[in-house]
Amino acid sequence: MLPSFSYVRPETVKDTVKHASARGAALHAGGTDLIGCLREGIMDVDKVVSLSALADLYGIRETADDGLTIGALATITEVAENPLVRNKYPGLAQGASEVASPQLRNQGTLGGNLCQKPRCWYYRGEFHCLRKGGDMCYALAGEHQFHAVFGHDRICVITHPSDTAPVLAALGAKLRVAGPDGGKTIAVENLHVPPRDNVLTETVLGPGEVITRIDLPRPAANLKSSYRKVRARRSWDFALAGVALALEMDGDRVENSRVFLSGAAPIPWRSRSVENVIRGRRLDDKTIAEARAAIVENADPLPGNTYKLELFKGVIEEELSAMGRPE
Ligand SMILES: Cc1cc2nc3c(=O)[nH]c(=O)nc-3n(C[C@H](O)[C@H](O)[C@H](O)COP(=O)(O)OP(=O)(O)OC[C@H]3O[C@@H](n4cnc5c(N)ncnc54)[C@H](O)[C@@H]3O)c2cc1C
Ligand code: SF4
Repeated sequence: MLPSFSYVRPETVKDTVKHASARGAALHAGGTDLIGCLREGIMDVDKVVSLSALADLYGIRETADDGLTIGALATITEVAENPLVRNKYPGLAQGASEVASPQLRNQGTLGGNLCQKPRCWYYRGEFHCLRKGGDMCYALAGEHQFHAVFGHDRICVITHPSDTAPVLAALGAKLRVAGPDGGKTIAVENLHVPPRDNVLTETVLGPGEVITRIDLPRPAANLKSSYRKVRARRSWDFALAGVALALEMDGDRVENSRVFLSGAAPIPWRSRSVENVIRGRRLDDKTIAEARAAIVENADPLPGNTYKLELFKGVIEEELSAMGRPE
């Protein structure tokens, strides 16, 4: 059952920040995650602050320096279908089109997608686990077949749920954030918090902080980007394993790369081991075989999810092979 709460719909960012700074307030964008969280009692909220009247948070447009700025309220469908996104950052369009179902993509927003709560079934259920302020992680000794294989430190083994966050991180996107102390910028790769730093929160955003826009830098002329997701069901499902690639190519060699994994860790997981293997090299069979081995370096799988390592090896092999093919 939904708890009772008050509802406000401010018309300026300043008022939104003021309302959202109050104890027990939560921001409402598309509501596809928030309403479920309220119903499941995993957020203690008595005031819902709608973002829907904020004109500055809509729209997708090119910037003067040839980058792109996406309003936090752009829907996932708008991101997936926008011609500028598809043309300049195909990996982001692919990531957005892999999110949930058409109905959820029509309603859910990019800002909300980055800030959604994790999907661990204990957390979403009636278990007072570590992430809810309890004293144990039920998944560690319980059912964890969809949980993390990297970066969990055996504290909390959630996987970060967003399909757009790994691609935005790979592309070097930055968030514009309004808050009680004014405005600031946060790189998407620094938005999410690993359990060892704080198991009680998912993002570095403080009370009253609102993502207003997501800025993408001008893509290098030789940039190739992609997102690949493996999931259990075709209809809608979160990633079991996925990889976001942003590769700058010098002919058939990789000049620079940023590689982030989904379905892997409590945060979008940067695979520096793959980046180190492919930098400066042609994507031939030898490089790809080494990347296949590198992607699972330092993994810490649990007894029920070792199968994910094979998935990661498979996705990196297929994605790098596709990137290496002449267009
Ligand atoms: C059945 C189902 C399947 C799904 N499958 C996938 C999937 O496969 N891949 C995937 O990536 N996602 C998936 N999702 C998650 C879905 O994409 C998110 O629910 C959606 O993107 C959230 O957007 P929203 O606008 O509805 O956010 P809301 O529900 O309104 O908000 C989500 C959270 O973000 C906060 N928030 C929202 N906007 C801002 C902002 N601008 N600044 C700061 N905080 C903000 C809210 O306070 C809230 O805590 C699924 C969800 C459901 C219900
Ligand atoms: S994985 Fe995290 S959210 Fe799930 S039970 Fe463990 S502590 Fe809770």
